[in-house]
Amino acid sequence: MAKKTPITVAHGDGIGPEIMNVTLQILEAAGAALDIETIEIGEKVYLRGNSTGIEPSSWESLLRTRVFLKAPITTPQGGGFKSLNVTTRKTLGQYANVRPCVSYFPFVDTKHPNMDLVIVRENEEDLYAGIEYQLTPEVTSCIKLISRPGSEKIVRYAFEYARRHNRKKVTVFMKDNIMKMTDGLFHKVFDEIAKEYPDIPNEAWIVDIGAAKMADGPENFDVIVMPNLYGDILSDVAAQIAGSVGLAGSANIGDKCAMFEAIHGSAPRRAGQNLANPSGLLLGAVLMLVHIDQPEVAERVHNAWLRTIEDGIHTYDIFTEGVSTQKVGTKEFAAAVIARVGQKPNRLKAVTYARRPAAKAARAVTDLSTTVELKGIDVFVYWPSRDPEALAAVVGKLAGDGLSLQMIDNRGVKVWPAGRAETFCTDSFRCRYIAEGGTDQAKCVSLLARVAQAGIEIAATQALHTFDGQPGFSLAQGQ
Ligand code: NAD
Repeated sequence: MAKKTPITVAHGDGIGPEIMNVTLQILEAAGAALDIETIEIGEKVYLRGNSTGIEPSSWESLLRTRVFLKAPITTPQGGGFKSLNVTTRKTLGQYANVRPCVSYFPFVDTKHPNMDLVIVRENEEDLYAGIEYQLTPEVTSCIKLISRPGSEKIVRYAFEYARRHNRKKVTVFMKDNIMKMTDGLFHKVFDEIAKEYPDIPNEAWIVDIGAAKMADGPENFDVIVMPNLYGDILSDVAAQIAGSVGLAGSANIGDKCAMFEAIHGSAPRRAGQNLANPSGLLLGAVLMLVHIDQPEVAERVHNAWLRTIEDGIHTYDIFTEGVSTQKVGTKEFAAAVIARVGQKPNRLKAVTYARRPAAKAARAVTDLSTTVELKGIDVFVYWPSRDPEALAAVVGKLAGDGLSLQMIDNRGVKVWPAGRAETFCTDSFRCRYIAEGGTDQAKCVSLLARVAQAGIEIAATQALHTFDGQPGFSLAQGQ
């Protein structure tokens, strides 16, 4: 008997307990070597007054086993309750969200019969860092953070995933024609890491045309890695066009703990009636088996499930007259999968999973010898009269200590000097002060003091650095 792997299991709410029970039965029948610790999460915990939906003692189990198989939970309606998914993901540093999107045509209807792609979404950074501000009565902002270590981790994960699963290509989606620094960094890191995997073809698409191509011909893609926001949106698009949102599982991978689940929710109206389809959670469990290095068991479960789908044994949600042969409940579906353990599908493609590669590729290290120089400061100000010339007349005089007013913009469009009367201005302006020969923090602080003394409301500031001589700030449109 193989050594058992400890895992933490939560049965969740609504249909959660039913689909978890049968999922665990199928795993056992397929010979999974699991040592299961059960924790309680979700509605009951929320309603006991814990706004996170998870007890402190449950974290202890998760950090010990480092593997979490989670049934869907109900998030109570109304304010104050936090999404447990977001809490778990952030607390446990789950940087990668992995979602296979596969079509099962002709057994499940779809316009894309040959679709088989995996979205690898960065999970911690980008606009989802949640750093937002209201700058002025009219203008809000959200900071998009893309880091080199964060990009390296997710891109490397995508290539390692491709290698382990014998995937043919890794594609990156980003928008570095517009966001040259943030998405530009993501793309640059992708190109660097791709060189370490010469055996795996790679390509890059600007996200808009890439998304259009994915929606039109998903069979042309294999593994797609993306920053958080694009990945959030496009993983739903991909699951939907595969025709099988209810069948998809997903993994959240971190160095401390990985979480596996179905992508659907707790469907409370279907609960307790032996109706729910356990497939999403079961396929989430297959991802878990691969993660804990039980690929043979993952293969047995996945192939038995494919055979069941192919034999037309379907729960109500995917039942189609003429295609399905039998409409079954949750328990009967699970019994049908168990009866097929050891079998492979005939018409759908059988899956194979490999053991974890022995040696992990070396981590790239950020070059710490970078020369960083302060060149100036951007001062975001509230200027309710909206007249850039009048603002320039005031803030231009505040220059000094080598710092001079280089330009003023409004929402990224240069409005001074030589702005155009047609440009619409809000009440929030950015004044850029630059010292060609470089400056220091004390001079920037003195400048801010002069701005404040002039009675101007400062909404935000941003230091302007060069890194090895390259500007660490973008130009305004029209600058
Ligand atoms: P849902 O995914 O729970 O259900 C939508 C509809 O899809 C259901 O009415 C049902 O008809 C069908 N459905 C979903 N899963 C099914 C299955 N396995 N078998 C058969 N039919 C299925 O979405 P919802 O109704 O918007 O959300 C219900 C609750 O689930 C909410 O409290 C929500 O916050 C929560 N939720 C939890 C998770 C999670 O835990 N990961 C994810 C999404 C939603």
